[in-house]
Amino acid sequence: MPFSIAIIGAGPSGLTLGRLLQVAKVDISITIFERDTSPTSRPSQGGTLDLHNDTGLAALKKAGLWAEALKHLRYDGEELKIADKNATVLLHHREEPQSKAETGEYARPEIDREVLRSMLLQSVKPEIIQWGKVLHAIDPDTGILTFRDQSTAGPFDLVIGADGAWSKVRPVLTDIKPQYSGICGFTSYIQNVNAEYPEMSKMLGRGSYFVYSDRKSFTVQRMGDESVRVAAWVMKNEKYASDMVARYGKDEDGLKQEILANFSDWSPDIHRWMQASHGFIAWPLFELPVGQFWEHKKGYGLIGDAASLMTPFAGEGVNKAMKDALELAEALEHALKTNSNIDEAVKKYEDAMFPRAKMYQLRTLRNKNAVFTENGAVNFMVTLVDMVSEEMGYDLQKGWLGWVPFKTMMFCWASFWQFLGRSRRRIGKLFARSIKQSGSKIA
Ligand SMILES: Cc1cc2nc3c(=O)[nH]c(=O)nc-3n(C[C@H](O)[C@H](O)[C@H](O)COP(=O)(O)OP(=O)(O)OC[C@H]3O[C@@H](n4cnc5c(N)ncnc54)[C@H](O)[C@@H]3O)c2cc1C
Repeated sequence: MPFSIAIIGAGPSGLTLGRLLQVAKVDISITIFERDTSPTSRPSQGGTLDLHNDTGLAALKKAGLWAEALKHLRYDGEELKIADKNATVLLHHREEPQSKAETGEYARPEIDREVLRSMLLQSVKPEIIQWGKVLHAIDPDTGILTFRDQSTAGPFDLVIGADGAWSKVRPVLTDIKPQYSGICGFTSYIQNVNAEYPEMSKMLGRGSYFVYSDRKSFTVQRMGDESVRVAAWVMKNEKYASDMVARYGKDEDGLKQEILANFSDWSPDIHRWMQASHGFIAWPLFELPVGQFWEHKKGYGLIGDAASLMTPFAGEGVNKAMKDALELAEALEHALKTNSNIDEAVKKYEDAMFPRAKMYQLRTLRNKNAVFTENGAVNFMVTLVDMVSEEMGYDLQKGWLGWVPFKTMMFCWASFWQFLGRSRRRIGKLFARSIKQSGSKIA
């Protein structure tokens, strides 16, 4: 009998693990149980994700999917603008040329979550996925999986929870539960932005336009099909966004006005994105506590969001998820090829995963804490110093003094641009007013 593994969840982490084990040339029986009833049953598969070299992209390379991935990765999607509520752009990062970016250490190409998932789906044998199987519970003594439709499966030699935020495998290992992050939001789409809103299309560029002010965030991102995904994030109670979406139902105009009331003194240029968008979905954001861990339990493991759920403010979730899959697959492959202890392999994976999760969670928390402040745009710019130094391999905990001048410089630079933007707008308004007055005198 081959070694049997059940992977719960066909999201990026579960599918990456399934694919990596499939190409590992080991004697293994893989079954993926997925809640969705079919690959296309969920109307929205989410927005765009940026993949990083040593995590998401490394997993795709190891999975033998690099050539396929290059057809979908959008290196021009790396273009990024950071602005404040007056639409003053404090940072405009232009994309790297693809030839340079592909090999570049810091390249972070974008891919739609839907495209990534479908690429991974097509790469695994269809017969290993069982659709419409919502895991309900696991009997920790017998290892039998029970699904919502009352069917059962197992026991398996190993059960891996890749079932995201509300994992049903997690309770076998730990009592930790996701906590509300204090932030919820609304996502929506604009389909024909290039043709119908050329000015807005130009304002966005090829990638992302992020606005941070007043403890709120407004983000606009271009998707692979040229449509645009708009998101508005606010610090409200957990039910705020879902209640509003339910209350307004099909009355999208009413909902938009209500959402925009949160951004009343923000630039009309930012409001236009919300006014043009459709298809609102509510997103309460949850997170697992930083630095969570559990005692290893024979026969079980967690990867991706199931192991370390984070808010999306550092763009690490999917990358960490795919890195988990990569490291677990490598550990299992090695154990199966050398006939060594599988549980030791899972434990080894966990020992490396816990500190990695903590690092990404801290990074995410740092960004979240910077973005959701009164002057989020400037504060985010200051955290860029931490981000860049981390990427360069410097530990800011040691020798922090050395970075204070850089952070101060960044603060002054970003504040200067903000001041300039504000002054330019005031002068513009004064001119407009005096032209209007002189016009009415002539009339
Ligand atoms: C629909 C969706 C849209 C998203 N959109 C974005 C986005 O726009 N931007 C962003 O930064 N992040 C987004 N995320 C989160 C991001 O994709 C994750 O951080 C990342 O993909 C982690 O991957 P994962 O495979 O660990 O978990 P997930 O992507 O959450 O995948 C988990 C999978 O498990 C399945 N599942 C859950 N419970 C069960 C169960 N009980 N039984 C069987 N199967 C189950 C789910 O249907 C899903 O397919 C989204 C997640 C989802 C599910």
